[in-house]
Amino acid sequence: MIQEYQLRILPEIAANEQKLKEYLSKEKGLNLREITATRILKRSIDARQRTIFVNLKVRAYIREMPKDDEYEHTIYNKVEGKPQVIVVGAGPGGLFAALRLIELGLRPIIVERGKDVRERKKDLAQISREHAVDPESNYSFGEGGAGAYSDGKLYTRSKKRGNIDKILNVFCQHGASTAILVDAHPHIGTDKLPRVIENMRNTIIECGGEVHFQTRMEALIIENEEVKGIETNTGKTFLGPVILATGHSARDVYRWL
Ligand SMILES: Cc1cc2nc3c(=O)[nH]c(=O)nc-3n(C[C@H](O)[C@H](O)[C@H](O)COP(=O)(O)OP(=O)(O)OC[C@H]3O[C@@H](n4cnc5c(N)ncnc54)[C@H](O)[C@@H]3O)c2cc1C
Repeated sequence: MIQEYQLRILPEIAANEQKLKEYLSKEKGLNLREITATRILKRSIDARQRTIFVNLKVRAYIREMPKDDEYEHTIYNKVEGKPQVIVVGAGPGGLFAALRLIELGLRPIIVERGKDVRERKKDLAQISREHAVDPESNYSFGEGGAGAYSDGKLYTRSKKRGNIDKILNVFCQHGASTAILVDAHPHIGTDKLPRVIENMRNTIIECGGEVHFQTRMEALIIENEEVKGIETNTGKTFLGPVILATGHSARDVYRWL
């Protein structure tokens, strides 16, 4: 049997599964020995008063075990030899676009003007230490995009622009804590985000996609008023439909457009 409860409890109970089971047993009349597992579905903290409470939506499994995984897996199949699509930018927009293309059976080719998320860190250190800004590798440009090295939180007020749960599950599949699935204000953590981004890149490459760093799109190739591909600063051209995921900092792109 599965029962769901909305609880307002003290943090020390909310943070400990055994204490939570004991609370459910006492307050909801469940037999403690029959509660096989609990699963937190939503969590928020109410710190407005002296006594802090945690609001929990919790599922109790009684005489049965949870069958579902902790998060939903998306299947990413191989896309080698499939039609290619150029994705300009490896920020959140570009990375998620690439993963979605793979789901749809298309081969993403990402071009990113900045460096990979680890190399980029050195350039950020240089900004603080020497006040020297690399125009292609900084807080705005590089793998992971603009927010990758800020607070690492993940927050949106938008509920109507697409499937947020799916995005959170994709992050979990790539190494984020499953706490982000239940927390009212999900937070990945700046220390953990680079690894998650690398894992997303690895999925893209393992499936047959490509990621080209330090490669800046300089022009769209347009024939008969149709976009056919891109030219880059390395001299390489890439052909195919183009997704521009260049973010709000790429003024040169907007000026050029
Ligand atoms: C300082 C800062 C802190 C932030 N902190 C947070 C936070 O903690 N949590 C949160 O959820 N949001 C945060 N945000 C907002 C978040 O970063 C943005 O909403 C998000 O990055 C937008 O994603 P995007 O992919 O559209 O664009 P971007 O992240 O801007 O990514 C665009 C990418 O395209 C690349 N690019 C641009 N032009 C070209 C070109 N010509 N050729 C090749 N590549 C190109 C860039 O290098 C960049 O990597 C923060 C933003 C900033 C600026």
